[in-house]
Amino acid sequence: MKLLKNLMAVSLFSGVLILPMAWGSALKVVTTTPDLASIVRAVGGDTVQVQSLASPLQNPHFVDAKPSMIVKLMKADLFVQTGMDLEIGWAPLLQQSSGNKEIQNGARGFLDASTAITPLEVPLNPTRAMGDVHPAGNPHYLLDPENGKLVARLIAKKLEELSPQESATFKKNLVTFEKNINEKLERWLRDMEPYRGTKFVSYHKVYPYFGERFGIISIGEIEPKPGIPPTASHTNRLMEQMKAEKVKIILIEPWYEKRSSEAMAKQTGAQVITMALFPGTVPEAKNYLEAVNYNLMLLLKVLSTVR
Ligand SMILES: [Zn+2]
Repeated sequence: MKLLKNLMAVSLFSGVLILPMAWGSALKVVTTTPDLASIVRAVGGDTVQVQSLASPLQNPHFVDAKPSMIVKLMKADLFVQTGMDLEIGWAPLLQQSSGNKEIQNGARGFLDASTAITPLEVPLNPTRAMGDVHPAGNPHYLLDPENGKLVARLIAKKLEELSPQESATFKKNLVTFEKNINEKLERWLRDMEPYRGTKFVSYHKVYPYFGERFGIISIGEIEPKPGIPPTASHTNRLMEQMKAEKVKIILIEPWYEKRSSEAMAKQTGAQVITMALFPGTVPEAKNYLEAVNYNLMLLLKVLSTVR
């Protein structure tokens, strides 16, 4: 409650000072996560100003809400979220606290990017027993670059709706974005072909879309359920399974502690790969395309040594 009051106080205070400055400039877009920001930047080009609320090294399920984020949302013409409850713990509070009617759910300046894709792992009867953070299906769909293309198309449509005068620019940028992905995708799929069916373990259930696209199979997660910390009994069972199925790869995300995965790797002879979930995680992954490429190059490098 205290946080909410503080956030509201800042939003009321800043509103008076900042709102008039929003007039007459580029379309202001705020996204929840850096992957979406990168796609908006690719499609919008110079006609948009894009900011992500979460940083590349933050777990997108658990982001600390800050007053500065409300200030960004107060000035936004468009708010884009990943959806499927990825940001449910923090984004709705910020969105509402901004008082910006244009970016509330259902308003013209709101976009749920998950409406562009076909969701995986949607539970028939969602219960807490399935874990805390994936009640609407798996929200990590942008790790599949085909979904990146679908989201870019949806974003282009929305930008055209908000800035019809720039329609030609958005169309042109979208074509370039799709072309760049298609060129790389062909190579990624070809390079991954010899490793089809490779089994892996991950910390969090982040890779169903990625695995489906590139032909690698998850046998389990270090987290017993999404959002639930590891336990000794679960870890031991998983290590037995890794040994039995000769699993040599553990994929983890940069925001998790490395102790559990490194201990497991040591005992099973596997290697830990820290993936760049978002552009900006490492210098060589500055944008969405580079982040997908970084993950695949890293994975291919390790795969070529463990087989
Ligand atoms: Zn998740």
